[in-house]
Amino acid sequence: MKRFLLWTGVVIGAAAIGVLIFLIRSTCFFGNHMYLPATCTEPEICTRCHETRGEPLGHAYSEATCTEPSVCVRCGEHHADPLGHVWLPATCTEPETCARCALTRGEPLGHLLSEPTFQTPATCSRCGFVEGEPLVPALADRTLNEMQIGEPVPYTTASFEDYGVDVTGTAEITDYRVIDGDEIFPAREGYEWRIVTVRLVFGGEDAQQNGVQSAYTFGDYYILDNSISHSEDEDGMRTFAADWYGMRVQCRQKTGKTLENDWYDRELRFSWEEGVQVPKGYDGVLFILYHFRLAENATRLYLPASEVLNDDAHVFRMK
Ligand SMILES: [Zn+2]
Ligand SMILES: [Zn+2]
Ligand SMILES: [Zn+2]
Ligand SMILES: [Zn+2]
Repeated sequence: MKRFLLWTGVVIGAAAIGVLIFLIRSTCFFGNHMYLPATCTEPEICTRCHETRGEPLGHAYSEATCTEPSVCVRCGEHHADPLGHVWLPATCTEPETCARCALTRGEPLGHLLSEPTFQTPATCSRCGFVEGEPLVPALADRTLNEMQIGEPVPYTTASFEDYGVDVTGTAEITDYRVIDGDEIFPAREGYEWRIVTVRLVFGGEDAQQNGVQSAYTFGDYYILDNSISHSEDEDGMRTFAADWYGMRVQCRQKTGKTLENDWYDRELRFSWEEGVQVPKGYDGVLFILYHFRLAENATRLYLPASEVLNDDAHVFRMK
């Protein structure tokens, strides 16, 4: 009997151990959960009893770029579409360019260069880029005998009675002014009058015996314009051409007030105003004083500038 009880106890004990092992291995009865790692959306979860622990991890989204969407780096969940490029317009020197990623497409536009003029180099109308230099003036490489305001210079021309006789006196620009217009020099929109006061003084024997015949004309520093006519219109004007920012513009010349024109104490004096109406700011007009005998025929005033611009001609640039 005692042996029976002993063996019964052993069996029960073994069964109890078996049950215990079973419970430990197959259930969470003793708190021995078998957790799966947490994911973006699920906390740690027990595979046996579904008990959870902690919090879901939450998604870890990548930054979207121009071409790549925003996705979770862990689970791949789509969060946002690619941003798309932000195209900045092409310029003269740069192709279309993405402001975000600097990708380019197409070609730069290239400059829209104007023709150079006497006042401006070739210039891009889109971006202002300049290339090269302004055009070279027609008289750039000529040494002009330039007069300075208030400085008399020797001036030789022909006598009035005998064109074969030279007479020498002085020539001076006594005043130079720029105005829009007045009662003598009529104003014109966009133009201004440049007015010199010229003074000629002759005191020698030849001048006293034969008088003096002076001669002058107008020219242009940039294009050496020869279009000035020797006959004036009903308003006392002569037209001539200038080249202003690439445009051929019509300028006008008019003789103004006479201040002196007679003998004064054994000196023969001439003093008068000469005006030219030019586009505002135009600095190319030349007043040219030359020897009267240069002309072979009767038309001895207002000769084409290119015919009288020799080394003896005096020039005042109305700039
Ligand atoms: Zn569990
Ligand atoms: Zn995720
Ligand atoms: Zn981009
Ligand atoms: Zn440009």
